Amino acid sequence: MRIRSLRQLKSLKGKTVFLRVDFNVPLAGTKIGDDYKIKAGLETIKFLQSRGARIIVASHLGEPAGRYEAAYSLRPVALRLKKFLKQPVKFLSPALGVKTAAAVNKLRPGGIIMLDNLRFYQGEYDNDPDFAKDLAALADIYVNDAFAVSHRAQASVSAIKKYRPSYAGLLLESEVRALYNILKPKKPLVVVMGGAKIKTKAPLIAKLYPAAAQILIGGGLANNFFKFQGREIGRSLLDKDSISDIKKFFSGRKLAKKIILPQDVVVKKSGGAARVVSPLAVQKTDTILDIGPATISAYAAYIKKAQTLVWNGPLGKFEEKSFRHGTLAIASLIAARSSGRAYGVVGGGETVAALELTKMSEYVDWVSTAGGAMLSYLGGAKMPGLSLIVNN
Ligand code: ADP
Ligand code: MG
Repeated sequence: MRIRSLRQLKSLKGKTVFLRVDFNVPLAGTKIGDDYKIKAGLETIKFLQSRGARIIVASHLGEPAGRYEAAYSLRPVALRLKKFLKQPVKFLSPALGVKTAAAVNKLRPGGIIMLDNLRFYQGEYDNDPDFAKDLAALADIYVNDAFAVSHRAQASVSAIKKYRPSYAGLLLESEVRALYNILKPKKPLVVVMGGAKIKTKAPLIAKLYPAAAQILIGGGLANNFFKFQGREIGRSLLDKDSISDIKKFFSGRKLAKKIILPQDVVVKKSGGAARVVSPLAVQKTDTILDIGPATISAYAAYIKKAQTLVWNGPLGKFEEKSFRHGTLAIASLIAARSSGRAYGVVGGGETVAALELTKMSEYVDWVSTAGGAMLSYLGGAKMPGLSLIVNN
């Protein structure tokens, strides 16, 4: 793999850099929820400053659908960035216009301006070349540090690269290298997959299958496999269109052998108590909400043998206390193994939230919150945001 890394640039003295970040933080009014995405972006910003660059920071926030909406303004994010960097960050809303041009002209080396939400422009969504040119015209160099949106063909991660020399930011580079380790894993590779939507996970299962020793299935994902086997799953979560995807895995016996399904599950009837049952004993009025203890210990045995571990998707409805045992047990185990014996990657919005409940996240070699982009990359999809800067 070859990456056009920012580190190759020894000096950026006086050069203006258009830095695309992912500062898509949760916002309630003007109050920022978790600000880890802003913190994660600081390394690249500080690197650029150390090289003497003048920096234009740009991001999206939410889905404002191509027109201005105050609720999606990045102003609170610019204020937080200013606080982290302990220096002025000039915020420009609208992102483009005479004021922006003037502000860029006035930028000093190490100085920072931040543009308002790029998704206030339809051109961003449309990967419009003219919009991309307008963005590119502000700077000498383009840097993509927004891996989480790099599976999208949008102007500020895709088209813009045609108009300026383009580089990978430090965060994006780390993310891509970590995921690449999964595609070329130290074996045995054990994959743990759960969560809700099989549609988004099937390509990943297919891609990792040949290299994997086992793919351990849990969560809502397992229900689809049970259903395919003709078992009763009661009122459990089901992705109705999933059967054709699963057929691919069960069509050859050899293929299916590596797909490991839960041997017991935690079920509940509406108003009733949680019970641990065999997947063969689920009743019409039951909902499957977690993997059971026998499954946890069986999965643990596989996980302990792995040299590379990948986990995406909670193994149960972990948002409810009674149904998080499976997820937390497996999360703790993966974290513990990652701290020495295995290379561990954990990804996905809810998956990372579940991992954080164990307070063991820092043991994991790479924690990725770029759910969709991670699945696309590992699934082998073309990544418009990585073209020209990452060569697999
Ligand atoms: P991620 O965002 O980490 O990729 P997903 O979006 O695929 O994960 O799925 C996460 C959701 O799946 C969680 O909100 C969790 O509650 C849900 N889930 C997992 N197992 C079950 C289950 N058995 N029944 C209902 N929901 C489940
Ligand atoms: Mg999710």
